[in-house]
Amino acid sequence: MQLLEVSGLTVEYPGGVKALSGLNFTLHRGEIIGLLGANGAGKTTLIKSLCGLVIPKSGEIRWRLPEERAPQLGVLLEGSRAFYWNLTGWENAEYFASLKNLPLRGLSEHLEYLFRLVGLWEARNRVAGTYSSGMKKRLSLLIALLGQPDLLLLDEPTSGVDRASVYELESYLKGIAAQGTSVVCATHVLSFAFTVASRMLYLESGRLRSWDWTNVLGRHRRAIFLLGGDLPIDDAARCNGYLHFLGDGRWHLEGETTDTRLFETLYYLLDERGFHLLQLHGVD
Ligand code: ATP
Repeated sequence: MQLLEVSGLTVEYPGGVKALSGLNFTLHRGEIIGLLGANGAGKTTLIKSLCGLVIPKSGEIRWRLPEERAPQLGVLLEGSRAFYWNLTGWENAEYFASLKNLPLRGLSEHLEYLFRLVGLWEARNRVAGTYSSGMKKRLSLLIALLGQPDLLLLDEPTSGVDRASVYELESYLKGIAAQGTSVVCATHVLSFAFTVASRMLYLESGRLRSWDWTNVLGRHRRAIFLLGGDLPIDDAARCNGYLHFLGDGRWHLEGETTDTRLFETLYYLLDERGFHLLQLHGVD
């Protein structure tokens, strides 16, 4: 079942910066989408467009909710000013839970669960302004996770979060998605994206390239990526032996679908070396 449909979404910032160009995609209920792309590719702009903080120049976002009710959103944006610094962590959580109209019944258990999930249980009664920057990030994440939103928008949810909490977060996201919450998660941490997401949207200078990774990675033993880009042959030799030059600015990257180093190499090429993905195949 669809949650929303994005068509022709184009965003331009003052000064003529075209941050998104004609994006088309649909998001289904209970689906987790990983949003990937180099710095400045438009990930944050897409997240802000989906929660109404940025008004598109053209195109639309059509929600498919029963009786046209307003969508319930949970949003984690970059920056840590997402809560009141003179309230404790717990008071903040209670305040935002009331803004989201969460029922009082079972609320303290829900909050305790989330405080433990993000690793802030011991610090829950401290004034949030005294938290370290990592703790502030985790409190913002907790506030985004409150309740059972229709759509959870997370911009870099794992930065500032320790490894144990990242594992917890992965299983929490899968759990709420199984109950119908859709998630769009912008991240540079490829292993996190591959663990939680069933589909990736890859943004390249404001344009969308979308692949159904589960179709390839979940069903095949090996993956082949056809890439375009420029790289000195010496640097290519350092890509763990996965990368081969085909000529004419085209490259072949191949490896086991369970091999995380293959994906680290892929992301290094896409993110840091300006490569673009031309095709993706699965082979047995
Ligand atoms: P990062 O990974 O660095 O967070 P991103 O993929 O989230 O990057 P955006 O922050 O969406 O990218 O930026 C997309 C483009 O829009 C960039 O060229 C950026 O410089 C520009 N941009 C973003 N916000 C503004 C703004 N408020 N005013 C003008 N230009 C902006």
